[in-house]
Amino acid sequence: NSAFEYCDQLVKDFEKVIEHPILSKSSVYYTGIDLGTAYIVLAVLDENYQPVAGAYRFANVVKDGMVVDYIGAIRIVKELKQELEEKLGTELIYAAAALPPGTMSLDSGVIKHVVQGAGFEITNLLDEPTAANAVLKIKDGAIVDIGGGTTGITILKDGKVIYVADEPTGGTHFSLVIAGAYKISFDEAENYKQNPKNHRELTPVVGPVIEKVSSILNRHLRDYQVETIYLVGGTCCLAGIETSIARQTGIPTYKPQNPMFVTPLGIALNC
Ligand code: ATP
Repeated sequence: NSAFEYCDQLVKDFEKVIEHPILSKSSVYYTGIDLGTAYIVLAVLDENYQPVAGAYRFANVVKDGMVVDYIGAIRIVKELKQELEEKLGTELIYAAAALPPGTMSLDSGVIKHVVQGAGFEITNLLDEPTAANAVLKIKDGAIVDIGGGTTGITILKDGKVIYVADEPTGGTHFSLVIAGAYKISFDEAENYKQNPKNHRELTPVVGPVIEKVSSILNRHLRDYQVETIYLVGGTCCLAGIETSIARQTGIPTYKPQNPMFVTPLGIALNC
């Protein structure tokens, strides 16, 4: 889908610099911090907003978009910051972070303190769909962010956000269902799920969870004339999820090549 041209290139460049950071002579670096239910991701851009480094870690410090382990969150962000600073040979000063839609008034103070506690100067705190749309650049349609713990829904019309919602169903539920079906631990199910080679086999196993997500979408989207759904978030890495959602909602559904890093990169672009 050509709508994702910028997004796909940016994410591809980012995936490269996670492995091989670019030692640029940038006058300033912008760090995007995504504190997720499943992952904490740091994305670093240079003065031209090009990715130069990135790091992520599986973490249990956020639940349903809320920080539940404040000290743990600070420690992980601090460690990832140090790791990136060593690789880049420079201090990272500025950072932005994001919150799921609708939680700004509840949790923004905590997120701010995590970012500052890790040693950053916070320049912006935005909502996740706004961050994602800095990369997707969509004017009309719904951005559906299926992360670890939650599914964020944002409807845009003429470039403006007209509706947001956040529902507590996400990748964790997919893993729980897989763990139950295969009689394996949650961690084993996570690993199994994340291997694209297993996706075809998993399709019938996770089918009911995808149907649940679609029914949530149908409920939120029914009052708006949404013509296109754009999927982001790690769970949308599942092969074929876009086809199931399109069929179950009756709305054409697309996803970028790698939906996983769209939000963290969008946060960094807004730093
Ligand atoms: P939330 O947005 O709910 O706070 P998060 O920001 O941690 O959570 P993401 O990083 O977007 O969410 O996605 C994490 C989820 O994506 C996890 O449930 C993880 O298992 C899943 N995931 C990551 N990679 C893959 C993959 N290749 N295939 C299937 N699922 C994946």
